[in-house]
Amino acid sequence: MGQEAAGSQFTARYWHRLDDGRIQCDVCPRFCKLHEGQRGLCFVRARAGDAMVLTTYGRSSGFCVDPIEKKPLNHFLPGTPVLSFGTAGCNLTCKFCQNWDISKAREIDRLNDSADPEAIAAAAVQLGCRSVAFTYNDPVIFLEYAVDTAKACRKAGLATVAVTAGYIAPDARREFFAHMDATNVDLKAFTEEFYRKVCGGRLDEVLDTLVYLKRETNVWFEITTLLIPGENDSNVEIDALSGWVTTNLGVDVPLHFTAFHPDWKMRDKPATQAQTLSRARDIARANGVRHAYTGNVHDPVGSSTRCHGCGALLIGRDWYDLTQWHLDENGRCRDCRTRLAGVFEPEPGTWGRRRQPVRLRH
Ligand code: SF4
Repeated sequence: MGQEAAGSQFTARYWHRLDDGRIQCDVCPRFCKLHEGQRGLCFVRARAGDAMVLTTYGRSSGFCVDPIEKKPLNHFLPGTPVLSFGTAGCNLTCKFCQNWDISKAREIDRLNDSADPEAIAAAAVQLGCRSVAFTYNDPVIFLEYAVDTAKACRKAGLATVAVTAGYIAPDARREFFAHMDATNVDLKAFTEEFYRKVCGGRLDEVLDTLVYLKRETNVWFEITTLLIPGENDSNVEIDALSGWVTTNLGVDVPLHFTAFHPDWKMRDKPATQAQTLSRARDIARANGVRHAYTGNVHDPVGSSTRCHGCGALLIGRDWYDLTQWHLDENGRCRDCRTRLAGVFEPEPGTWGRRRQPVRLRH
């Protein structure tokens, strides 16, 4: 843990004092115990005097309008634009991090855009977005800022999306997801060893979050696993992962298998080949997963949605462009009327694959 004093002083929730004089953060299963002036492993939650503070409240590493499919979410308001932003820091230490410039940011100056929750919601409405996403780094660590922004968004008629690794303790989890309409949870692998050695976390905590989402909430959720050659891409592991999903979460939770590219502290591994993703998709489907997708590669077949009732092509995708829409106004297959799991409006969005960085005025 660092020794620097906290920056801006937004009093945080979820912490308590210990008998030995330290303060324990209760946001995530790391439960960092801090002396005066120390920061947690995530770097952005810190002890200031006799309290915990969130040092990144109201500050962002940048805003961008993305297609919702990029989160990735394939069954939530397809084709619509989402105003996306993140802050700095992370509560996992994944060696393969694909966003390390943000997640490992140690200089708060990196956070060059500032915006209060109402300004973010207003900007999203003005930009024609249907939702706002907390992404790029894990919103669990900026919970108070994400929750306040989510409240402002819902007030403005916007949906809210969290892109997270699901590494969050039960009380904080309850509050966090109460304010989210959809989430994509990274399930980074299916062994405790991988989580311990590569991510510095625990698999069972993430599985708890997934079961919680299924049993206790109405949040629409999809799961992403980044397949890394030789690390988490064996048939046995993918079989175990997808079998666990169908048994514990049901057959309607979409799985995304995405391609790794060498980054951060894992530059000795090659990029994932497209056939590895297709193999994973086949295994998941054999285990009963209705909607398994490939991602980060050009694969119109692996990224499109078919009806599990009759096999009709319901939503065609080419990268993030929608090439086919075959749902009726109630989200059912136009041929056999089987309902597709997810959140759909009568018409799809028309945002396409564009990515539009934006600066918020303040
Ligand atoms: S959110 Fe997690 S990593 Fe950050 S201070 Fe709290 S317990 Fe530590």
